[in-house]
Amino acid sequence: MFLQRELRIKGLLLPKEREKNTKPTKAVKTFGLSLDMEGALTARDRVGIQDFVLLDETTETAFLSNLKKRFSEDLIYTYIGTLLVSVNPYKELDIYNKKQMDLYMGVNFFELPPHIYALADNAYHTMLTEFNNHFILISGESGAGKTEASKKILQYYAVSCPSTTLLDTVRDKMLMSNPVLEAFGNAKTLKNDNSSRFGKYMDIQFDSQGDAVGGHILNYLLEKSRVVHQNHGERNFHIFYQLVQGGEEDLLHQLGLERDCQHYNYLTQGECAIVSSINDKNDWKTVKNALNVINIDETDINIIASVLHLGNFHFESNSKGLLSLNYFSPQLLGVNAETLRKGLTFRWIEVKKDEVLSPFTTDHAIYARDALAKAVYGRTFTWLVNKINESMENTNSTRKTVIGLLDIYGFEVFNLNSFEQFCINYCNEKLQQLFIQLTLKSEQEEYEAENIEWEPVQFFNNKIICDLVEERHRGIISILDEECLRPGDATDLTFLERLEEKMGSHPHFVTHRLADKMTRKTLERGDFRLLHYAGEVTYCVVGFLDKNNDLLYRNIKDLMRQSKNAIVRECFSSMDPDSRRRPETVATQFKSSLLKLTEILMAKEAWYVRCLKSNESKQPGKFDEALIRHQVKYLGLMEHLRVRRAGFAYRRRYDVFLQRYKPLCPATWPHWRGEPADGVEVLVQHLGYLPHEYKMGRTKIFIRHARTLFATEDAFERCK
Ligand code: ADP
Ligand code: MG
Repeated sequence: MFLQRELRIKGLLLPKEREKNTKPTKAVKTFGLSLDMEGALTARDRVGIQDFVLLDETTETAFLSNLKKRFSEDLIYTYIGTLLVSVNPYKELDIYNKKQMDLYMGVNFFELPPHIYALADNAYHTMLTEFNNHFILISGESGAGKTEASKKILQYYAVSCPSTTLLDTVRDKMLMSNPVLEAFGNAKTLKNDNSSRFGKYMDIQFDSQGDAVGGHILNYLLEKSRVVHQNHGERNFHIFYQLVQGGEEDLLHQLGLERDCQHYNYLTQGECAIVSSINDKNDWKTVKNALNVINIDETDINIIASVLHLGNFHFESNSKGLLSLNYFSPQLLGVNAETLRKGLTFRWIEVKKDEVLSPFTTDHAIYARDALAKAVYGRTFTWLVNKINESMENTNSTRKTVIGLLDIYGFEVFNLNSFEQFCINYCNEKLQQLFIQLTLKSEQEEYEAENIEWEPVQFFNNKIICDLVEERHRGIISILDEECLRPGDATDLTFLERLEEKMGSHPHFVTHRLADKMTRKTLERGDFRLLHYAGEVTYCVVGFLDKNNDLLYRNIKDLMRQSKNAIVRECFSSMDPDSRRRPETVATQFKSSLLKLTEILMAKEAWYVRCLKSNESKQPGKFDEALIRHQVKYLGLMEHLRVRRAGFAYRRRYDVFLQRYKPLCPATWPHWRGEPADGVEVLVQHLGYLPHEYKMGRTKIFIRHARTLFATEDAFERCK
């Protein structure tokens, strides 16, 4: 099984399977390319090489030139071994359809041009033959094509895997969860018109027949601050615009909404409510239909209209702290209008053991209002994910295997970077660390452990940056938490002072004092800079404490818990049962959830899609060489390639290797009485392995090329 899988990965199917497989000819015709045995294109001058491992030189220049050549022919995919590199074409390519899916189904990796379907298919078949769990890590910066890639993989599974009518509904639900979560969790940013503002990990569950039978989604840190504030050129979450522009007359009337985005404070700050690439009206129809498929009543999402109303509250700073509160907000939230008004304008404070009401300042009231809007939206989002999970749940207890799809917000640098970018970029550091752990580091460690002579490949290990952010008691998150919990005069600036005191000399931390000297770029007072693996980012500390605390006034929380609206009640009760206990800070919660995610992923077999952004202006077909070179560098693609090339294609424990191939040699058949390693040595000598083709490790034999093992496997098949 194991062997079969490795062969499959390298595109070398077992002879039996090869006979069954007649598709390559079709492929060759379709693409007008001819392929040699290891998949190199003979038309390489025109379309480059489809696997970087076969490139003559491993220089960055050769790498980029190959990528560029392929990109100019609309060949956006290239392999490094089994890793898929994808360059965003920013135009629709006719390579994602049922015909293409059929072509790739069950065909081995290197026989067809690289494709996201090939990777999906390979993971799928490996899972079936080995009956183990896999995940596909899709990474790249914001706008590089991660979400599109993950959708294509999901579609591939939904369309191509065998099915029964019963299961069709599960697949529909899996597919339909996408438009809903995108409507609620994606927004236009300066980097991407459909930028994911939450992290998503989705397990697709398969039964032993290979039917997709269920799914489960884990969601990570939604960028809630966007609900109440958008930077210039950015929008709030899509769903609001869809509702206002696409919602039926009756519905808008019932929700008290105007059909005009300009009317709402929460929709207009970015001054770009209308975006040419987005059709909110049509998207509303899609979302409604999708909600229907996943068993969510359309009216269940009415509460989000209350957010728009909240944003339009005006506070008057008269002595009573009155505010204009229209009728719809309390109605939609299922709470008493007067109590809500009080909640947003007064707070209970303790005076000599008594609790008394004290009026807010206008700023305070705005703060309380925004906090409520964010809480309502954020919790509705979590509620939605829970509902989607319920609808995709498979309660059948037969054993299942999964393929996990990870699509998380990519590395981000804006002119102004805040707490959100800090969290997003930290998450990307963690994923890069996982990639390093699973590929570069473990590969090299194995050679070392096995005493295999090996020229180590130098790579930048970003663990030092992960530690800088997350180390217990010492990392940035700990310092931030300490400031958040410190009673008294803690502010964003005192947080920065602490950081500078403790981190001042860290090689990846730059204080505003040192910045001038080191980088010659000015840092404002109030800024700090981190040298991330993907580049340097200057963060402005304003808002860090508040966003990390994410506090909602207690009386408002209590009010929501008594709401007449069952969903509001559920959102505010079951999601945090004890309103009096101080919840963990946002950064710490995020840190723990990423830790859990790493554990989930480490227990599975990994596949990688590395997405590259082709240019900053979203132009079709434009290959910005400097931009791509930078990404190739920080994603560690050259190092990955060098490790792959320098390494050994196969390794197998001596006993396993001997057990399988012992019939091929009279000296080892039927029993080898000595040490397995000696038996293997005798066996491979007999098979005529040349000295440079293999190495004997401590517990395993290492074989350099696929073809060597392939020949052995062929011989084995013949002698059976
Ligand atoms: P990310 O999730 O990495 O931030 P997206 O997947 O949302 O980026 O891609 C951003 C945009 O780029 C998409 O909206 C689409 O216009 C374009 N794009 C990405 N991948 C492809 C692709 N394979 N084919 C065509 N266009 C793509
Ligand atoms: Mg995305």
